[in-house]
Amino acid sequence: MPPTASNSIIVTIDGPAGSGKSTAARTLATRLGFEFLDTGAMYRAVAWSCLQSEAPPENERLVSELTRSLSIQFQNGRLLINQYDVTDEIRTSAVSTVASVVAQHPVVRETLVDLQRACAEHGNTVTEGRDQGTIVFPNANCKFFLTARPEVRAQRRYEEMSGDSDRPEFEQLVEEIRDRDHRDANRSIAPLRPADDAESIDTSDSTLEEVVKMMEARVQKKSGPFG
Ligand code: C5P
Repeated sequence: MPPTASNSIIVTIDGPAGSGKSTAARTLATRLGFEFLDTGAMYRAVAWSCLQSEAPPENERLVSELTRSLSIQFQNGRLLINQYDVTDEIRTSAVSTVASVVAQHPVVRETLVDLQRACAEHGNTVTEGRDQGTIVFPNANCKFFLTARPEVRAQRRYEEMSGDSDRPEFEQLVEEIRDRDHRDANRSIAPLRPADDAESIDTSDSTLEEVVKMMEARVQKKSGPFG
């Protein structure tokens, strides 16, 4: 059930990997004094748990049971699974790939969507993911859909992973992103797509500052004065 009773202002930012949405969402939340919700981290948490327990990510029954058994919490910007801090461990390439597989299972999505709505009850929120404007918060005050050219997105991910020992070759990363986008956009539940009332922004040739400024002005205009 979509939230309607809450008085919180909700800003949704959806888009594919490397579109710049995570950094833009985090920065926008800080500027506005809003909570920030990284929903991709929740799918990554399930993926990480799958890898730990060696549950095959395609096995819907096992992954559903596993998801229901997990306690996933954000605390001071850190992500805890059953009280264990996985913030850094969920950023690997292997976890990215498995996340987009487990994200296709209905129970995983239902469980995490409930958790996302509960998080947004805490106050004004900028939330980012794939389905925030379409499914999770259809009544959000302001919706954005960020995109960028595929080669720009791959380059950003490559640079982000510069310190990682498991960073794939650039060509492999392009391939991984393409596969992940394909799974995200073509799954039967909550596929990646812009909400009808979302504003699309191509970030390929823009700086972070330009993108955030544009979004901030739009939120202020649509939501009126707050703070
Ligand atoms: O955004 P991030 O790259 O961390 O997301 C990892 C994966 O989690 C995505 O590729 C997608 O399959 C899944 N996801 C999703 N719905 C969301 C957020 C992420 O299906 N709201």
